[in-house]
Amino acid sequence: MGKKMSIYDEDNTVRTSKSEVNLEVASGDISNANAKNCAQFFPPGPQSLRPTELPAGHAIEKCTSRLIVSKLVNKRISKKLKDLYLKPTKENILFFLTTEDKGIIKELYSFAGKVREEHTGNFVHLRGLIEFSNYCFRSCHYCGLNKENKKVPRFRIPKETIVEIAIEAANNGYKTIVLQSGEDTFYSIEDYIYIIKSIKSKVDVAITLAIGEKTFEEYKILKENGADRYLLKHETSNADLYHKLNPGMSHKYRIDSLKELKRLGFQVGSGIMIGLPGQTVESIADDILLFKELDLDMIGCGPFISHEETPLAGSPSGNPELAFRVLAINRIITKNTNLPFTTALSVLTKEQKTSFTDPFFKGANVLMPKLTPLKYQKLYDIYPNDNRYDGNSKEFIKDMNKTLSVKGLKTSTSLGNRNR
Ligand code: SAH
Repeated sequence: MGKKMSIYDEDNTVRTSKSEVNLEVASGDISNANAKNCAQFFPPGPQSLRPTELPAGHAIEKCTSRLIVSKLVNKRISKKLKDLYLKPTKENILFFLTTEDKGIIKELYSFAGKVREEHTGNFVHLRGLIEFSNYCFRSCHYCGLNKENKKVPRFRIPKETIVEIAIEAANNGYKTIVLQSGEDTFYSIEDYIYIIKSIKSKVDVAITLAIGEKTFEEYKILKENGADRYLLKHETSNADLYHKLNPGMSHKYRIDSLKELKRLGFQVGSGIMIGLPGQTVESIADDILLFKELDLDMIGCGPFISHEETPLAGSPSGNPELAFRVLAINRIITKNTNLPFTTALSVLTKEQKTSFTDPFFKGANVLMPKLTPLKYQKLYDIYPNDNRYDGNSKEFIKDMNKTLSVKGLKTSTSLGNRNR
């Protein structure tokens, strides 16, 4: 049994073969059988944390197997949920986006949590986010960094400092560094190469770029020089809405970029905002189908949050409940994609008691803590967000690990690539 402690190795590759799976788990009551089988893996702790006390979704900790999900699909879930897992259609996605039946919604979330556990384990990947420049030459109607916003003081972090922050983060245990900025041509491709190479020559981390659109040639050079991942949200699959909200930009180029980045060998992330003015639930269903078609490695979806210094000032913000539905549906359809609990969603749910760990039991497996120096965090004003913290401080990392472990989750020590 000792060898079956985890069916995932450090890179989340399933290493327990089907034949090793305990059939009692597959044929009997899932939560009880697993509680029994998993009992030895839980250290002695407070009564409330013992396996038998855990709700069903948690009790299958570490002992999950492909058989469990196939059993769930075969027996324990509604036909509609089974279809969502096996052969999703727009109609079915729309059903889960719009149903008001509390029982069905609960089942959706609980199944998404199990699919997350089944396909990515109980690991949470921390992607350390460095927001290094708030200069932007774009005029996106939703974003507080749009160039027309004269109220926000602009900043740029020097490239040497970016490298220092990233190395400190790697030494603190982060395995991915995300470099994000407005679209700022101040930093040349050579600057990015300097940053990537300086970081990678010292520490073993994956580097994600979220720096907006570049030419295909530039994507290629960045990949050849060590960038591992690229994050470029397509924001909405509705091209007309996209063109309205993003003056001077091309929806086609955005999607073509995602395809080219993938062809070049990047791990590719995209995503949308939920609740953009003019967006329909049908268009969100199209987004979800597009995520699947693009076979993305990461999908980040957060609610739109309106910002005073934008053309969308005064528009209502997106509904966090709808964002959770999208998260759960993405998990069920795309299985092993990296799905963050997005900052925008955390902003709109921070009053809720269970807000921090709840999203992992609705499908998320990634967090993106901010490593941006505190003095710059309020200036990286994409949308209103008062939550400031130093993601590189020892206390933050300790607290995060503790909070996750209480729920049976573990901070991943792998680079956290999606297995294709
Ligand atoms: N310039 C980079 C990074 C943009 S900011 C790029 O183009 O990729 C990162 C993401 O924040 C955007 O892709 C968008 O999805 C999100 N965002 C921007 N404004 C927002 C708002 N008002 N509410 C919620 N999310 C927003």
